This record gives sequence, C-alpha cells and structure tokens, in this order.
Amino acid sequence: MSEQNKVDAVIVGAGFSGLYLLHLLRKNGFSTRVFERGDDVGGTWYWNRYPGARCDVESMQYSYSFDEELQQEWRWPEKYSSQPEILAYLQHVAERFDLRKDITLETSVTSAHFDETAKRWTVETDSGEQVSAQFFIMATGCISTANMPDIPGIDDFTGNIYHTGNWPHEKVDFTGQKVAVIGTGSSAIQSIPVIAAEAAHLTVFQRTPHWTVPARNVPMTDEYERSWKDEYAEKRANMRTSMSGSLRAVAPIDVSALDVTEEEREEAYRERWAAGGMTLLRSYNDLLTSEAANETAASWVRQRIKSTVKDPKTAELLAPKTYPLGTKRLCLDTDYYETYNRDNVELVDIASAPIDRITATGLETGGRSFTFDSIVLATGFDAMTGTLLRVDIQGRGALTLKDKWQAGPRTYLGLMTEGFPNLFTITGPGSPSVKSNMLTSIEQHVEWVTDALVNLRDNSVVTIEPERQAEDAWTDHVQEVANQTLFPKANSWYMGANIPGKPRLFMPYIGGVGAYREKCDAVAAAGYEGFSLEGSDKGAAAAE
Ligand code: NAP
Repeated sequence: MSEQNKVDAVIVGAGFSGLYLLHLLRKNGFSTRVFERGDDVGGTWYWNRYPGARCDVESMQYSYSFDEELQQEWRWPEKYSSQPEILAYLQHVAERFDLRKDITLETSVTSAHFDETAKRWTVETDSGEQVSAQFFIMATGCISTANMPDIPGIDDFTGNIYHTGNWPHEKVDFTGQKVAVIGTGSSAIQSIPVIAAEAAHLTVFQRTPHWTVPARNVPMTDEYERSWKDEYAEKRANMRTSMSGSLRAVAPIDVSALDVTEEEREEAYRERWAAGGMTLLRSYNDLLTSEAANETAASWVRQRIKSTVKDPKTAELLAPKTYPLGTKRLCLDTDYYETYNRDNVELVDIASAPIDRITATGLETGGRSFTFDSIVLATGFDAMTGTLLRVDIQGRGALTLKDKWQAGPRTYLGLMTEGFPNLFTITGPGSPSVKSNMLTSIEQHVEWVTDALVNLRDNSVVTIEPERQAEDAWTDHVQEVANQTLFPKANSWYMGANIPGKPRLFMPYIGGVGAYREKCDAVAAAGYEGFSLEGSDKGAAAAE
C-alpha cells in the first residue's frame, strides 16, 4: 500500500464537521484523507438546494467560531442564511485553509473493516481505492440519507420528480406548471411559499401538519452584526455552556407556564411570535415537559393559524392536534400559512385517505385523480443512523455496525461504540447533535476528538474503545432524559418513527449542550474514563 494510502485518519464527509476536523487534525500533525460523495464540499448545504432552503439558526450563530479572523471578516447578508450563502461560506473555508488537497470528491466510502492484528481500519471506496487508517471518523451529518417514500407506482411517473434532499444543481423552473408537494416538514414548509409563487398551481399532500412559527428573516444590519462581532468571545462562550448551543433573541422565562395568568402568557407568546424563531418554545420552563403547559402555547398557535388561513377547512387541517408543540422539529417559515390563501394552492389531507398510487401523469388519492408536471418529495431523511449504517462498517470479530445497532444505536457519549475501536462519529446518536445548534456541537466534537487523538499519540496508545458498562449506562441515560420530556409522544424522526421498521427510541441527547460538554471534558480529564485504551498505561493518558 502506498504512503498516500496509509494515513493516520480517514474522514467521511466534507460538510461543516469534516472540513473543521481535517483542518484541526492536519494542524496537529495527523495525516488525513477526506472522502466526499458530492462533487464539491458542503454536506447538507450541497445537497439541499430546494427553493427557499434556509437555515433556521441565526447566521451569526450558525458559523464556525474556531478562527477569529474568519468570524470577523465573513459577512452574512441576512439574519437567517440561505443555502447558497452557506455553501459559499463552506467553499470559502475550504479555500482559506487549503483543505481541498486532502479531499477526494465524488467518492463514497463503501466499507470500513477493523483489522485486529494491525489495529487499523481498511477503508474502501466506490472507486476501488483502499486506504489504511488508524482512525476512521464518520463526519456524515445527521440528515443526509433521503427517505424515498414507498408509494406504489412511484417509478411510473413520466413528469419530473424531485426530492428536497437531493435537488438538482441547475435552477428548476416551475413557471406554468402543475406541481405537487408531498410532505409538510421543514423542507416543505420552506419550499411551498416559493414554489406557489412560481407555479401555475400547487397541491400540497399532508399526512401530519407540522408546527411552524414565523422566522422573521430580515437583511443583516450593521448594528446587529456589530453587536455580535464586538462580543463574539463572550457570546460564543455562552453558547457553549447553554442548553441548546444558541442564544435566544428573547430570554426564556424561568417559571411554569401554568404559574402565570392567561394575560401574561398571551403577552409572552405574542412577543416571541413577533420576534420570530425558536424562542417561542422556551417561553416557559415546562413547555417541553408538561402537557398542560405545552397546550397553552399549542392552542395559542392554533389560534394564529385560524386567524391567518381564510378557508376554515384548510385552517383546521393545518392545525396540529396529535402531538405536543415542538416535539417534532419546530419549523420556521416565511408566509407558510398565508400561502394557503392563494387561489393557486390547495391542501389535500392524506391522513384520512392515503395516496393510493402515483400514475404516469399524477397521483390518485381519496377517489380523486390529479395530474402534475412535477412532483416534489419533501419526505425527509433516514436520520441519524441511516448514513452510518449504509456503509459496511465491521469492528472486532467482524461484527457489523448494523447488527450491533439492530435494536437502535448504542454509543458512549454519541462519540464511539463498543466493539469498534478508533471509530468516531461526529454528532452521532447519543450526543446533542440535532437537538442543538449543530455548529456548536460539531466544534465541540471535533475538538474533543482531536484532543483525544493527540493525547493517545503522546501516550503511545494505539486504540480507544468504550467499555460496555459505560456505553450501557450512557445509552440508558439518553433515554431517561428523553423520557422526562414530551418528545417521545411524537412520531418524529428523532424517534426513528418516520422510517418503517426502524427501532423506536429517542436518538439525540437532550440533557443540554453545556452539561454534555462538561461530561465529555470530565471523562477526558479522568484519563478517558469509561474507555478502554490499548497500548499503554491508561492512567498516563489523562487530559492535561
Ligand atoms: P421531515 O420533517 O421528516 O418531514 C417529512 C414530511 O414528509 C412529513 O410531513 C411526513 O409526514 C411526510 N412523509 C414522509 N413519508 C411520507 C409518505 N410515504 N407519504 C406521505 N407523506 C410522507 O423532513 P424534512 O422536512 O426534510 O426535514 C427534516 C429535518 O431537516 C428537519 O426536521 C430539520 O431538522 C432539518 N431541516 C432544517 C431546515 C432548516 O434549517 N430550516 C430546513 C429543512 C430541513 P409525517 O409527519 O406524517 O411523517
């Protein structure tokens, strides 16, 4: 095997995680190769190019903090960044830190097998290349495998069919077309107003209405930008120790929603609805733990829907009733409900009568036949584990990750899994990941993993792997924390409930970004407590 094919670390994915990890590992003297299936860097922001695609975390917070010059120099044009802006930022980062030379594009990793004698991973790609690496790091994101719905006849459609998570690179022009959108999650809620403004007619097929609140996106002002850039060090530090990895525009009120008057609640919800963003969900400290408290906010939002959408039947259909507010990912929108007041938009309920089949010219449901030029599948992702399990990963004793996780993902800290030495998952299941500002969590994971690798090298440790007991305890803890909340009450992708046959358990860790960071730091400081280290005296590897 050539020297180029023998490296310290192989990283899969060149999105936010992979790019920063490559930068930091290289800076610390590790030879590293990155494989990326797209023909450019960007990850999520490379694939999700659907109309209206935008981040629902504010630009000033959804950006790297690791380089002071970068965060001071980069200028975000809007409060919430659009997909092209974020992609341009990631392309800039790749150039700025000279990352491209170690990234192989248009190449998927197909397998990674741990060789117990050599104590190295043998990684294979779809181009037939084989690489040997001491460390194998999946930086593949949490929502990167599109969920193609199993609707009969889907291959028969002769018009255009798109998935929001795998959108064409050239502009899709819906002008004059009859368009269908299937699904009403975040991707649909962002794209529906934009498609409706362009298409001749849009029909939206809804199985479950999602909760959505206005984003209130605005152009960035110099004052707002300065307010962040002048205090970046302090604000970033607060983000790192916060619950969600983000700072809220309107501070949470630290009392129960049930301990205030109806008038006070009304004012709190009105203020946060007007400010826009996720802040509504943290109006009171028990909206995500008490059904009664949650219902005060939920019924308030249902009233907003009814007062916005003119057709009462449509308004009724759009109002979620079957799961608490915020227990599926809360969506942020721009004119979503207003869009249903347009003459060229119709909402069709497919909860009462599912789609029977897709035909050559459209689809059939509830005794009605529709014709379309284009169908947009906004049907989501096999989230959190889908991409990890798509690669043939085999650990000790040829155990496959698929078999190990048959009943659901088991990890220690969402970073590693027992039986798979030196395999790391960036923002893996069991870490705050999707229940946090991804950027805060990505940076924390990348820095923890890099510190660990430096530490192992300094102490001549060859492999690191979680102990069974530590993994069991953490896996139970992730569920215990989730079970104290309302989250398990929704059939969400957090629970794996959107994919038929997928084990049902809450995958992200919701104990809080700050508390999680403390735990990870304490584990490292105690000589990687709960991990077994092979190749040297474990005590010597304590973090400094
Ligand atoms: P999603 O939230 O999983 O929504 C998928 C939608 O498709 C749901 O309405 C679902 O209905 C429907 N669906 C799935 N399979 C179906 C079928 N066979 N027949 C009919 N309907 C079907 O997916 P998403 O909208 O792509 O969002 C996924 C996540 O990506 C978000 O939660 C968010 O974390 C992230 N995201 C973020 C942003 C942002 O930053 N602004 C934007 C887009 C996405 P059911 O609810 O009944 O299952």
